[in-house]
Amino acid sequence: MSDENKDQTATSGQKVGVYVCHCGGNISDHVDIEKVCENAKNIPGVVKVRDNVFMCSDPGQELIMEDLKSGAVDRVVVASCAPDLHETTFRNAITRADGNPYIYEHANIREQVSWVHHGEQATRKASRLVAAAAAKAKELKPLEPFRVDAKKHVTVIGGGVAGLRAAKDLADRGIEVALIEKSPFLGGWVSKWEHVFPTEDKVSDIISELTRDVLNDPSIKVYTCSHITAFEGFIGNFRLTFARKPPESDAYRDEIERLSASGRGMGEFVPFAGVYPAGIPESEEEHVLETGVIVLATGFRPYTPASGEYGYGEHKEVITLPDLIRIISENREQGGGESLVWNGKKIKSMAMIHCVGSRQIPGVHEADEKGNLHEYCSRVCCSATLHAANTIREAHPGTRIFDFYRDIRTYGRGQEEIYESASGNKVIFFRFEAQEAPEVMENTGPGGQPLRVRVKDTLTFGEEIEVPVDLVVLAVGMESNDVSDLVQMMKLPMGVDGFLQEVHPKLRPVEVAVSGILLAGTCQAPFDIGEACAAASGAAVKASATLGRGYVELDPPAWKPAITKAP
Ligand code: SF4
Ligand code: SF4
Repeated sequence: MSDENKDQTATSGQKVGVYVCHCGGNISDHVDIEKVCENAKNIPGVVKVRDNVFMCSDPGQELIMEDLKSGAVDRVVVASCAPDLHETTFRNAITRADGNPYIYEHANIREQVSWVHHGEQATRKASRLVAAAAAKAKELKPLEPFRVDAKKHVTVIGGGVAGLRAAKDLADRGIEVALIEKSPFLGGWVSKWEHVFPTEDKVSDIISELTRDVLNDPSIKVYTCSHITAFEGFIGNFRLTFARKPPESDAYRDEIERLSASGRGMGEFVPFAGVYPAGIPESEEEHVLETGVIVLATGFRPYTPASGEYGYGEHKEVITLPDLIRIISENREQGGGESLVWNGKKIKSMAMIHCVGSRQIPGVHEADEKGNLHEYCSRVCCSATLHAANTIREAHPGTRIFDFYRDIRTYGRGQEEIYESASGNKVIFFRFEAQEAPEVMENTGPGGQPLRVRVKDTLTFGEEIEVPVDLVVLAVGMESNDVSDLVQMMKLPMGVDGFLQEVHPKLRPVEVAVSGILLAGTCQAPFDIGEACAAASGAAVKASATLGRGYVELDPPAWKPAITKAP
């Protein structure tokens, strides 16, 4: 900022410019923008009032910059959307016009007005918010941001594929990393699978390479069996306390002993090494980390069907897709065969049902014990289901597959081909409406199959069809892991879907509202592996850009370091 301009903004403070946004029709369809502008002209101190269809666009920002540069205004009010979306945009525009970014005040007339009010009342409220903002703007003084040293260190919480990717990308940029994982293993859910589509890469190859890179990198310290117990500080200077404990569950202990003895890898069945780092603690330890940025990569868990949902828990022949993937792997290890074998029995016919625990509809599906419905599409289960169907049809042609779907969403490069292959592999499709989901019931008819599935098939204009089957596979969706402890400690925003909420899905996709905390992967939403790694790399770039200068700048009015202990 030039000295001349700095002096001018420091001393006058009487020339307020008001800029009112239409947001396409998002605001102007409900608020009379002309009237708001007319009212603004009568506010003491307001010397300029302008409106624009999209204030955040380049031409919109130019209006502000022109008026500042010409000296027509020395305080700025923008009336538009919520400040967490574009306050920074407009402060930056002021900086580019050689002004002080703290001569700015924001009036939210979209979320607080046009999205919740209509007609005359909306216009009146918008005018009042603008008047309040203009009155405050007149009193604003130019300020300088705090500049504080930042630790060139990032803590990644979660050792799945996104956490591993983020850790490695950060280390490659010269940043020290601590990777904290709750379980004794690295690799997360992905390490329990065999192949990834559409490339057909072996999971063991991908995860082994990534874990080897992470474990061999001297800039990365890996702490398994660890969970965060306390959090305090602010961007650039967080302090995290975490506890390392020997695994509590006998299943983990047995697994670790089995793997140590066999020299094989981790997980219930995955035959590869490298994801079980040495150094399980013998007793509880407490560690404290000074860290500049935190990357959350806490991942997802597969939806567990409610008892009785499509017969789950009532009929042992109703299983989930992760169960099926394990069964396919076990069959392959045993040399395959004409039909898939499960529990010593040949599976001659199998039903696969899509959208279980996803795309739930109020009034049709029941909420879980917390009252939540999973209204979102889990995005990966169509491709995963059809990929498993293709694998079975190609390896075990004696197993017939009936696929019951609402919609097929095999989006993404190379994934529509999975659907086409399933058709070519003679998978038989039935389509159902959400309100008329298939029914799974005991088979009392001939054939010896234990179950039958009844559906009103919209592909045959509502014909009721019954299929006897040996096995029913539920294509369960994703839900967020339980991170309520972190949410409470770090004051993290969570969406109604239970996933952590980014500031804006397009403009700030890996940031949360708490500065210095970033998101990587499926803690944010259902992603496939490629998308999770892309998000992790995005978070790593953002973190390294934040810490690269060795200091961070903090807004003076908002600077209040939070100190929060675990409950
Ligand atoms: Fe205006 Fe915000 Fe909409 Fe951009 S996003 S056009 S600033 S209301
Ligand atoms: Fe349903 Fe397919 Fe979406 Fe999964 S990806 S929720 S199965 S539509």
